[in-house]
Amino acid sequence: MTSHANDLFARFLARPARYEQDEATPDVRTALAEAICERAGNQGCRTAADLLAVLERAGLTAAGMSRLTALSDLPAGDLDSATMAAQLGSDALELVRQALDGHLAVSNFENFSSRLANIFAYARDVTDGVLADYIPELAKQDPAAYGLAVCSIDGQQTAFGEADTAFCQQSAIKPLIYALSMGLNGENQVHRHVGREPSGRRFNELALDPDNRPHNPMINSGAIMCSAMIRPGLPVADRASLLQRFVGSAAGGSKVGIDQAVYESERGTAKRNLALVKLMDEHDAFPEDVDPAAALDLYFRACSMTMDCRQMAVVAATLANGGVCPTTGHRVIDSRIVRNTLSLMLSCGMYDYSGEYAFTVGLPAKSGVSGGLMIVVPGIGGFGLWSPPLDRQGNPVRGIEVSRLLVESFPFHLFAGVTGS
Ligand code: GLN
Repeated sequence: MTSHANDLFARFLARPARYEQDEATPDVRTALAEAICERAGNQGCRTAADLLAVLERAGLTAAGMSRLTALSDLPAGDLDSATMAAQLGSDALELVRQALDGHLAVSNFENFSSRLANIFAYARDVTDGVLADYIPELAKQDPAAYGLAVCSIDGQQTAFGEADTAFCQQSAIKPLIYALSMGLNGENQVHRHVGREPSGRRFNELALDPDNRPHNPMINSGAIMCSAMIRPGLPVADRASLLQRFVGSAAGGSKVGIDQAVYESERGTAKRNLALVKLMDEHDAFPEDVDPAAALDLYFRACSMTMDCRQMAVVAATLANGGVCPTTGHRVIDSRIVRNTLSLMLSCGMYDYSGEYAFTVGLPAKSGVSGGLMIVVPGIGGFGLWSPPLDRQGNPVRGIEVSRLLVESFPFHLFAGVTGS
């Protein structure tokens, strides 16, 4: 689009991702630091500790985001703009200033957090659903486990319940398999081998589209196909660690593990996924240079990758922020790839409940059979949830309830704006 056309639609265009900027000159840093000290003073905040407390109330912590690590090194005692300008990068300074101005993505974070706490508590009463047991290791999960975390596109974070317990991601990892595959191969190559149409069937149904491709990357066949295209020439362990590093970067530079027991369990009960590979192979669906068995192995490792709700929320916020991770300020995913990924999460992310979810909740999301759910609120932030009992479509029952309550409480539905609500 030309800039003229952009001007015409400025109101409707998403903002560019935040904090993907070059380091400012010392003069600009000094001006920012002075502005911070002045605003901080006006808000009765004199010392570095006072400042950290104000930021914490806004949802920002030096521990939760590497962009702000230097803040904890500010000397105790009165705030001093020269020291601040020397110690903090312009990215951190800019963020602190916005926080003091009340200009973060969630302007009243305390209020937002207490409403979220209510939603979390309310959905705890929903106790329907059953654990997935077709992968024996998943049947061992605690049905009472329940966690929720949120991260805004400015890195504001909070969490409830068991948000620090890592669990295997299962299908919730599929958007990232797709995004990495597209980053390595390009959109055209990936979509030569996988469609972008909801299948309307179960996630592991033995079915291909009319062109003999998997229907989309959010179901098993499509995710196996996307796995096949992740550096097919490398040993599987290296391909898995590439994916782990990619997911870890989207999760704020944190460590993503692999649950070995789940991996073994999946491999030991793989008949349906093996059948899917056979079906695709029979129809020459794979690119020429790939080994379908290795692709399946990589897919199992991907499903066994572990994150906790906090990490999932940061991944979701990276997607909400157009591919720039809000806690590190680093671009992890190309914005065009993010757009594609979110489109498919919206149309295909919730198994054969995707149409209903898009209608009632109106947000890109991805669930997994371990009870994980990643919800993206584009331009605002993201949520990570874990509650293992599933409904008949394979979605976490409490995850659906929390989603419903979120759009009831906040104007998050993608089309909420058309009615002004
Ligand atoms: N590993 C699971 C499988 O292949 C993932 C399915 C899911 O979470 N829907 O069956």
